[in-house]
Amino acid sequence: MDKPETDEYFKSYGDISVHELMLRDKPRTAAYQKFMQQNSHLLKDKIVLDVGSGTGILSLFAASAGAKQVFAVEASAIADLSQSIIKENKMEDKVKVIKGKIEEISLPVDKVDIIISEWMGFYLLHESMLDSVIFARDKYLANDGLMIPSDAVLYMTPVNMSSYVAENILFWDNIYGYNFSAVKYAVLGNKMCEPTITCIEQLQCVAEPEIFCELDLKTVTITDIQNINQTLSYTFTKPGLVHGFASWFDVEFKGPIAASPDQGTKIVTLSTSPATRQTHWKQTVIFLPASMTVDEGDQITANIDLSQDEDNKRHYNISVEIIGEEDEQSSSEEDASHHPV
Ligand code: SAH
Repeated sequence: MDKPETDEYFKSYGDISVHELMLRDKPRTAAYQKFMQQNSHLLKDKIVLDVGSGTGILSLFAASAGAKQVFAVEASAIADLSQSIIKENKMEDKVKVIKGKIEEISLPVDKVDIIISEWMGFYLLHESMLDSVIFARDKYLANDGLMIPSDAVLYMTPVNMSSYVAENILFWDNIYGYNFSAVKYAVLGNKMCEPTITCIEQLQCVAEPEIFCELDLKTVTITDIQNINQTLSYTFTKPGLVHGFASWFDVEFKGPIAASPDQGTKIVTLSTSPATRQTHWKQTVIFLPASMTVDEGDQITANIDLSQDEDNKRHYNISVEIIGEEDEQSSSEEDASHHPV
């Protein structure tokens, strides 16, 4: 990978507006604060590593919760501003900002007790920052150490995108009386190559969500997340059109395995589901090449594949293949019909 100054990824994180967006995302930032505030017994006198510390907000939470020493490692230019923020808040004795990539810097200690990081991207894995967190864990985390967050779950469910399609795709059919459908097909072509990041409502989900993958941050490996393939079955809970699959994730903040809730650890969940308050991750929709008409009770089986791109590992290629459709009333009847958008 390139140097942080020339790498487009780290250049984008040098811009304050990205950090502003994340800080304004209340469900996100407050989940980290709540876990550390409510479980200060886990942080007290501990050595903490914050992987990708940005403005330093999570390091400040850890220091305020009683950590003895926090190493805030940040590769982008925001590291310089975070240094001033730490100083301004009189935390420089506790929080040490280290500018550089976690893979390239060296910490002044061999091991840390806790790793905190906000590494999640769209559909959880976009940007592949988890690779760096796994690297940090394997190099620096003590055997009985704690990962914050500790678990992640990615969900997938079929969705009806009728209003999105009307606003963004069918719109091109008639522009001041002219036929602009050439643009419509170009837009549709893009939808097939790139997932769409948009807010969906729960009522657009036409079946119960299924778990696509579950990651235990203490044990997940880089090979586990290079390619994830699942075959999932759904039963439609309402009739109508299905345009694609929506995905979102939850991350959980738990104590070490030995500590159960009755030992005082309060579990916190950060959810990016359409059923909860929206976050900056929104939801991710993967459009099917053609929409399907389904009835309540119909079943489908889909093979969903997420693979890190070989040329740019910060991107994933996502594909959905419908491998089975079944009509509940009679499987010999005509299968759910397919038609373009
Ligand atoms: N922890 C901050 C910022 C989260 S965004 C907050 O919660 O507000 C992720 C940050 O991690 C970005 O600032 C990015 O530049 C940084 N980052 C990503 N990969 C990194 C790596 N390998 N080494 C150091 N910093 C990294």
